[in-house]
Amino acid sequence: MAVKIYVTYNDVHKMCQEVAPKILADFQPNLMVAIGGGGYVPARILRSFLKQPGSPNIPIQAIGLSLYEKLANSGDADVEAPGTKVTRTQWLDMSALGEMENLVGKRVLIVDEVDDTRTTLEYAVKELQKDVEEARAKLGSDKKTEFAIFVLHNKDKQKKGALPQDIVDHHYHAARTVGDEWICYPWEALDIEEHDRNAAAALAK
Ligand code: 5GP
Repeated sequence: MAVKIYVTYNDVHKMCQEVAPKILADFQPNLMVAIGGGGYVPARILRSFLKQPGSPNIPIQAIGLSLYEKLANSGDADVEAPGTKVTRTQWLDMSALGEMENLVGKRVLIVDEVDDTRTTLEYAVKELQKDVEEARAKLGSDKKTEFAIFVLHNKDKQKKGALPQDIVDHHYHAARTVGDEWICYPWEALDIEEHDRNAAAALAK
């Protein structure tokens, strides 16, 4: 069976805390876009550490993208296998923040839990850039919207997806770089005590 890494809620909290100052150093996000479902909890925790005294909380928008499907006969109910295409299950609801035009000239932080093949992140960045570019053209503005990425884990492997070089060089933050292992996040656990025991057992080894 493939190696599994068990990550606890406290691990996630501390990873967000650790990376927040690096994000703030040269990118003060105006908006976070959490890729669901794995990006939701990290985005919310990260927001607490990105909060600046005297400034309002950074709004979090959710998008739903799905690449992985449970394999009926994989022999391991927890491990999922990659699909081939990204399915959009939810997209930005900008009506709460005005309209898409409000993203023009802003800094947007995209949050997901893991960068595996990079297919999902590539899709998210491309589609968000497309929407923003449309809004920019409509406004006749020359203001650029900047994107940054935060993930808890980046798997060090051959990627299928590609990201703009500017993001890779300056605005890509992974709290941990790991091998090609399966990571079990706490929000997926059906028995959180057992999950935490597994995490502690791995630490004790
Ligand atoms: P990518 O598009 O980078 O291949 O995959 C991104 C999505 O695949 C993640 O958002 C996550 O839902 C799922 N995924 C990939 N690897 C893992 C893993 O090791 N553990 C879990 N829980 N999900 C994963």
